[in-house]
Amino acid sequence: MLSDQPIRIAIIGGGLAGATLANSLLKHKHLDVDIFESTPEFSEQGAAVGIATNGQSALFEMGGSLTDVIERAGGVIMTSSRLCMAAGPSAMSVIFDLAAEQRGKVVHRAALLAELLKPIDNIKKHTNKKVVRIEDKEKGSLTIHFDDSTTFDAEAVIGADGIRGYVRSHVLGEDDPAVAAKSAGFWDSRSLVPLQKAKELLGEEYFRVNRQYGWVGDCGFFMHDVLDGGDTVQFVLCGMSDGDWTEGEWSKPLDRAAVEKVVESWAETPLKKSIVEAMLQNPDLKAFAEQHHELNASTYTKGHVCIMGDAAHSMTPWQGSGAGQAIEDAMVLETLLGETKDPTGLAAAFKAYDQVRRPRTQKIVHSSYGTGLITCGRGEGISLDINKIRESMPGRWAFIYEQDQAQHRKEALSVLKSYW
Ligand SMILES: Cc1cc2nc3c(=O)[nH]c(=O)nc-3n(C[C@H](O)[C@H](O)[C@H](O)COP(=O)(O)OP(=O)(O)OC[C@H]3O[C@@H](n4cnc5c(N)ncnc54)[C@H](O)[C@@H]3O)c2cc1C
Repeated sequence: MLSDQPIRIAIIGGGLAGATLANSLLKHKHLDVDIFESTPEFSEQGAAVGIATNGQSALFEMGGSLTDVIERAGGVIMTSSRLCMAAGPSAMSVIFDLAAEQRGKVVHRAALLAELLKPIDNIKKHTNKKVVRIEDKEKGSLTIHFDDSTTFDAEAVIGADGIRGYVRSHVLGEDDPAVAAKSAGFWDSRSLVPLQKAKELLGEEYFRVNRQYGWVGDCGFFMHDVLDGGDTVQFVLCGMSDGDWTEGEWSKPLDRAAVEKVVESWAETPLKKSIVEAMLQNPDLKAFAEQHHELNASTYTKGHVCIMGDAAHSMTPWQGSGAGQAIEDAMVLETLLGETKDPTGLAAAFKAYDQVRRPRTQKIVHSSYGTGLITCGRGEGISLDINKIRESMPGRWAFIYEQDQAQHRKEALSVLKSYW
C-alpha cells in the first residue's frame, strides 16, 4: 500500500552535496525535503571548484535546473595544464600536457551554491541549525535535535554535513575509528598576486598562453594559474609534513625559513628562488593540513539515515574529485528515492545507495592520496623518474572521468529491485 503523505526528508548540511541533492529531489512530488545548515548562512569557502566530465554528466542526468547549473553560475571550460619537473635529474622538463579537450569546467564556488539553492523555497532552507543528535523514535520515524534545543521530525535523514559533521558518527557509532578524518600528510598554502607582478617573479614565458602549470618537487609540489579573467595569478605550494604537525592541527603560519625548507632539495634553477618570492607575496601565508577519511567507513547507511559527500568520503584535492563525487552521490540518491514511494522502502533505498556508491568513492579517496604522493615526487617505485611519472598518471583519472552515469543509475535501480 502506498502512503498518501509525502515522505519527509531532512538533509543536514548546505554545502555543494546537500544543495545538489535538495535541488534534484524537487521534481519528486512524493518527497517533502528540508535542508538544515549549521552556520548563519549558506556559504562556500574558497574561490573555484573544477567539475570534471563525470560530475557534469551526473548533473545532466538529474536534469531540470541542474542541466546547465554550471553555465548559469558562470562556469567556463578549464584551461589546459602542463605538468613539469622541478626536482631530480629531469628538472625543468615537461612531463605531459593535459589538453583542454578533457572539458572539465571551473566555476566560482559561491555562485554555484547560490544557483543550486535558488529553486528551493525559502521556508525549506534553515540556517543556524546545527544537528547534535538523531533519535530513532520508533520504526520509521526520526527526531533530529539541534543545538538551539529545537527538533524536527522526518522519515529519512541524509547527512551532507562535511568532513567534521555529526551524521557520520551516528551511522558508524561514535567509537568507530573510521569516524574521524585523519591528516593525509600533505599541506597546502596559497598566494594571490597581480598578473604583472607574477610575470616579473616567474618570467613572461609562463603567461603567454592561458595554462595551469604544476611542478613536481622533491617532497612537495608547486602550481600556478590565472584567475579572475586574467587579472590575478594564484600560486599554490604544497609540502609533506615530516612529523611537525600534530594530529588534529589544521593550519599554521609559514615564514621564509619554512618555505625555503620545502624547496631545499629541489633542483637549483631560477624557478626555485621565484617560488619562495611568489609565496612570500602573501604577508599572511598559512599552511593548511589536507585531511581525508583514510579509514574506509564500513557502511554509508544505518536504517533511515545515510551519509553523502565529504561526510561519507572526504578526500585530498589531488584528483579534484570531492565535489564531483558528491554530485554522483546526489544522482544515485535521487534515482533511488524517486522510486521509493513509501517510507517502508527507505532502508532498502539507502542500502542500494551504499552498495553502489561506497566502492567507487573509497577507491577515489585512496587514488587521490596516491596521486598526491606521485605529484610530490614520492610515489613508491616512481620517485623523481620522469618516465615512470608519465606512465603512472593517465590511468589514475580515466576511471573517474569515464564513468557512464546512465549506466550507474541503472545499476542502482537494479540493486534496489533486488531488495524488493
Ligand atoms: C583545496 C581544495 C580544492 C578542491 N578542489 C576540488 C575540485 O577542483 N573539484 C572537486 O570536485 N572537488 C574539489 N575539492 C573537494 C570539494 O571542495 C569537496 O569535496 C566538496 O566541497 C564537499 O562538499 P560537501 O557539501 O560534502 O561538504 P561541505 O562543503 O563541507 O559542506 C558541509 C556543510 O555542512 C554544514 N554542517 C557541518 N556540521 C553540521 C551540523 N552538525 N549540522 C548542520 N550542518 C552542518 C557545514 O557548515 C557545511 O556548510 C577540493 C577541496 C579542497 C580542500
